[in-house]
Amino acid sequence: MTTRVPIVAGNWKMNKSAVEAAALLEGMLSELKAITGVERVICPPFVALAALAPRLAGSGIGLGAQTMHWEDSGAFTGEVSGLMLKGLCSHVILGHSERRAYFGETDETVNRRLHAALKHGLVPIVCVGETLAENEAGRTAEVVTRQMKGALVGLTEEQAAGLVVAYEPVWAIGTGKAATPGGANDVIGGMIRPALAELYSRALAQSIRVQYGGSVTAANAAELFAQPDIDGALVGGASLKPSEFVAIVAAARG
Ligand code: PEP
Repeated sequence: MTTRVPIVAGNWKMNKSAVEAAALLEGMLSELKAITGVERVICPPFVALAALAPRLAGSGIGLGAQTMHWEDSGAFTGEVSGLMLKGLCSHVILGHSERRAYFGETDETVNRRLHAALKHGLVPIVCVGETLAENEAGRTAEVVTRQMKGALVGLTEEQAAGLVVAYEPVWAIGTGKAATPGGANDVIGGMIRPALAELYSRALAQSIRVQYGGSVTAANAAELFAQPDIDGALVGGASLKPSEFVAIVAAARG
């Protein structure tokens, strides 16, 4: 049986200047450092990456970007490339539902970003998840399978082994209405891992870490993490509150 190390990442979204981000990190760093057995990642806005990188160096805590472009450089005003993130970051979130909904990210561009992230040695956290309408129409399996397979086009099994998946039902993000632990586990174990097994192998599907994301708090984290197919969380709002985020990370330790 595969032992998967849980991974908890804080997505700070468009919150905190570089100075504020450094102060926020300061408020949780020593406690986060002390937690073993859980991979920990902080994903601040682009402008705060350079401020946090030296503070996290040698801490065992990863630093992630919230998206990236697939080209290395060029006439793409406002974009940031994997080449630029390389050396600064360890991780990158790809295909977050807010990027898909407001900034035109698609399965195809998530796939391009994923190839570029791996080329630059970044660990991708690939987000998939259905909207409320899709959920209510009974289309969850179809949507997450399409997103998963679309993201992975052209990736070898060896490359796919290096990624992290985040199952984030759109209706649970920032709403205070998390999926039930059993419901999230059913999607991950019954839809996402089977899609990975179909593309690659059962062994690979069992070895990839799949986080749950969507209104995770210190109050519901332990029950979510007790599910056999949930390997940690991608945390939005609660990652901006030091004691709350530290408690979520501690809950992943099991
Ligand atoms: C997210 O943005 O990835 C997220 C899960 O947000 P929240 O925890 O606030 O629902």
